[in-house]
Amino acid sequence: MPKFKRIDHIAIVVEDIAAALGFWQDALGLAVEKVEDEPAEKTSVAFLPLGESQIELVAPQTDDSGTARYLAKRGPGMHHLCIEVEGLEEILAALKARGVRLIHETPVTKPDGVRYAFIHPKSASGVLIELYERSG
Ligand code: ZN
Repeated sequence: MPKFKRIDHIAIVVEDIAAALGFWQDALGLAVEKVEDEPAEKTSVAFLPLGESQIELVAPQTDDSGTARYLAKRGPGMHHLCIEVEGLEEILAALKARGVRLIHETPVTKPDGVRYAFIHPKSASGVLIELYERSG
């Protein structure tokens, strides 16, 4: 049975990770687990675990990335909510059958084996939603 397990992460677009950490790390006291470059997306991402979930701060590395365009258009803010699921294909098929607008109708596989798909915000109360399935 497909299931929705937990909020995996909330992604927040920022102009500058070091500056954003002044709030998330210094003022709130959250620990930074790692900061990684994601060359495919032309972004840097800081991961701050929070209970069973984490906050991801995403900053563009170039002016021509999707994240840079998003930032230029809307400014910093919440970008997407990610829910960890089991049975991603079945969930996507069921959503499609209900007329939910999907950005990915089939899952995309990341180098680390995690599979994901995005649901369009038009179908989800204005929120971009990512579904994650971890293998094994
Ligand atoms: Zn995400």
